[in-house]
Amino acid sequence: MNKPVRVRIAPSPTGFMHIGTARTALFNFIFAKQHGGTFLLRIENTDKERSKKEFEDDIIQGLAWLGLDHSEFHRQSEYLPTHAKYLESLLADGKAFWCTHTTEELEAEGEHQREAKEPPRHICEHRDTDKTSGIVRLRNDERASIVIHDMIRGDIIYDPQLFGDISLAKNLAEPLYNFVVTVDDHEMNISHVIRGEDHITNTPKQILIGRALGFTEPEWAHLPLLLAKDRTKLSKRNGAVSVGEYQKNGYIREAIINFIAFLGWHPKDEVGEVLDLETIIKVFDITRAQRGGAVVDTEKLDWLNREHIKRLAPEEKINRAEPFINPATKEKLGSRVAQYILAVLPRVTKLTEIDAMINDLLEIPPYDAELLLWKGKLDRAKVKETLSAILSILKNPDTAEQDFKPLIEKEGNGAVLWPLRTALSGRAISPGPYELLSAFGLDVAERRIQNAISKLDA
Ligand code: GLU
Repeated sequence: MNKPVRVRIAPSPTGFMHIGTARTALFNFIFAKQHGGTFLLRIENTDKERSKKEFEDDIIQGLAWLGLDHSEFHRQSEYLPTHAKYLESLLADGKAFWCTHTTEELEAEGEHQREAKEPPRHICEHRDTDKTSGIVRLRNDERASIVIHDMIRGDIIYDPQLFGDISLAKNLAEPLYNFVVTVDDHEMNISHVIRGEDHITNTPKQILIGRALGFTEPEWAHLPLLLAKDRTKLSKRNGAVSVGEYQKNGYIREAIINFIAFLGWHPKDEVGEVLDLETIIKVFDITRAQRGGAVVDTEKLDWLNREHIKRLAPEEKINRAEPFINPATKEKLGSRVAQYILAVLPRVTKLTEIDAMINDLLEIPPYDAELLLWKGKLDRAKVKETLSAILSILKNPDTAEQDFKPLIEKEGNGAVLWPLRTALSGRAISPGPYELLSAFGLDVAERRIQNAISKLDA
């Protein structure tokens, strides 16, 4: 590649950051990393009515949370003088003109085209007047086919006359999307435009505008659409969730990154499905992205979340989980917060589940002595004997696994661990016995085992 790689994520701050923006950001970020390039964030806020600071903040925070750090930040509205300068030069060169057709006239034309099943476009007969009001349009005389060389889709061919005289700006101070993007991408030396397939019909317009301005064309890649499970386009109505919501719902960033990397791509080599960002960067190849839509399957995300939670270092597990524990629960745990977190985490799909799980452990439910006998598989007197042996061996919950080895060798795994786990939790399903021991500490553990022994006496 001869040009330095410079790529961008260019979200419009008109809503909370959604998973599609995160996916586009990730693919650009990876591409930059693979080529020693630059990844920049450009907030496209020229639509004054719909752009909100709150959404801009959400996007910045969402990208930071995912670890998709940008090395340049731009806000489109800050470049309005540059946009005006390029508009003026196109007007001065006669490559653009003021179209004075009224909205009503354009609507009537559109209606007529729809009825005649013609492509909606406006070929203006005002091109050569010397008016300086109305909207600015590109004089589109191009006849030769436009070919988009797409890194994913190969060549895509368009008849330039499909687009008519492309609108560029409402006036010199209010440029429109296709024009601004073309100018900004040029000014920011963007080498590769990697974005969603929903922009594919904008690309030939941007190529035409870029040609009129004498710009070098960037390379293009259009990522597959995101689909809901019913294969309709993903939207808020059928399950699109913002990145901030995923975060609030207890998903961890490693799982989200892994999940969105697979939205339209999968590795060629056998590297498995649970991948960290570093590995993804190593094996990713944009030219192998798929063309067809990518289904967003949250069951897969749940699975990845469980897997990535398991892979976190213990310190990290505690850091990530702590914010999901209510202050009242924390107070009850005192100095044992970390131990409780580590005890329940292996069973957690989303971090939001841990508070309830911990609270379940704090109260032992009334249970029947039968539960200690492993559905009648164990003998009552034997279980009592085993629990007493456990009590006398148990000195330090943290070394219990080691300390119980001789007893387990003698009696068997199930015969020791089932009564122990049940005595500690009072439940048929719970975290494992060693996790419970280290969560509870010696006093609580001894009390609960003692209590189980008395149940067997009764
Ligand atoms: N601002 C556009 C959007 O949010 C993206 C523009 C682009 O990537 O070219 O959809």
